Amino acid sequence: MNNIVVIGSCNIDLTVLSDKRPVAGETVLGNGLNIAPGGKGANQAVAAAKLGANVTMVGCIGNDAYGQMVLENLHRWNINTDYLVTLDDVNTGTAHITLAEGDNSIIVLLGANARVDESIVDGAWDAISKADLVMVQNEIPLKTIGYITKKCAAAGVKVLLNPAPAADLEAEWLTQATYITPNEHELAALYPVNNTDDIIKANAGKIIVTLGSEGVAFGKDGDIHKVPSFKVQPVDTTGAGDTFNGGFATAIVNGKSIEEAIRYGNAAAALSILKLGAQEGMPTAEEVSAFLA
Ligand code: ADP
Repeated sequence: MNNIVVIGSCNIDLTVLSDKRPVAGETVLGNGLNIAPGGKGANQAVAAAKLGANVTMVGCIGNDAYGQMVLENLHRWNINTDYLVTLDDVNTGTAHITLAEGDNSIIVLLGANARVDESIVDGAWDAISKADLVMVQNEIPLKTIGYITKKCAAAGVKVLLNPAPAADLEAEWLTQATYITPNEHELAALYPVNNTDDIIKANAGKIIVTLGSEGVAFGKDGDIHKVPSFKVQPVDTTGAGDTFNGGFATAIVNGKSIEEAIRYGNAAAALSILKLGAQEGMPTAEEVSAFLA
C-alpha cells in the first residue's frame, strides 16, 4: 500500500524578473524569465512521488505546449497521467508572476483547472476507489471538492484536504474529509470563530495546522500538541506547504502515525526551502532519511 491519487491543479508558472514593477500604462525592460511547472495539485503529486509514493494525477490540461510540459514533468517523476484529461477548447492553467522590488505579484489563469468537475472524478473513479489516500486542494472548483469528499466518504476512501488557497468550505465536506491541513490563515477561513484552539482539540486526528517556521499543531489527548519545525536557513519557502503535504501523505500511506507523519512532512518541507523553486527543491526519500538519521 502506498497509492496516492491527487485530484488538483496543474499549472505552468511564468516568472518575470525585473528591477521595477511597471505601473499602469508603463513598459519596463525585465532581466529574465523562468518557466517552471507548478499548481498545488501537481506540486503535491511531485512531492509525494519524489518521496517514493506511487502517485496518480487526476486533473485537466489544455491541448497546448504548456500541457505537454505538464505531462513531461509528471512523467519525469513516474506519476501516472492516465486520468489527466486533455481538453481542446481551453488553455493549460498558467500563473503569471512578476518578481520585482523584492516581492511577487501574481495573476493566475485557472484555464483547464476550472474544468475539473464531477465527470472528471467519475472518469478516474477506478483509480480513486483503489487509493490509500486521495489528496485535494482548493485550486479546482470548490463544488468538485464536495463531490470528492462525499463520494470518497461513502466508499471508505481516505481524503487529505489541503484547503489552500483560503476558502470557506461547507461544514459537511470538512466532516467527510479524513485529514485537513490548513495554515493559520486558511484555518480561520474554514472556521470563522474567535478561538480556533477548541476546533483543533475537537478535531484531534483530523485537523493538522501548519505554522511556518513554528512547525505544526494538532489535537491530542484533549490538548494541542506542537511538532516543531527543523531549524534551517530558508532560501525559498515557495512550495513548503506543498512539500509538507506530500511528505505527510507519503508517511501516512506507509503506515506511520499522525505524529510521525507530521515530523516526516516537516523534514521534507525544511529540506525543500533550502533550494530555489517549488518542485526542484523537493527532497527525495533518501535525502529525508539522511536528514532524519
Ligand atoms: P504554507 O506555505 O502553505 O503557508 P507553512 O508556511 O505553514 O505553509 O509551511 C509549511 C511547513 O513547512 C511548516 O509546517 C514547516 O514544516 C515547514 N516550514 C515552513 N517555513 C519554515 C521555516 N522557515 N523553517 C523550517 N520549516 C519551515
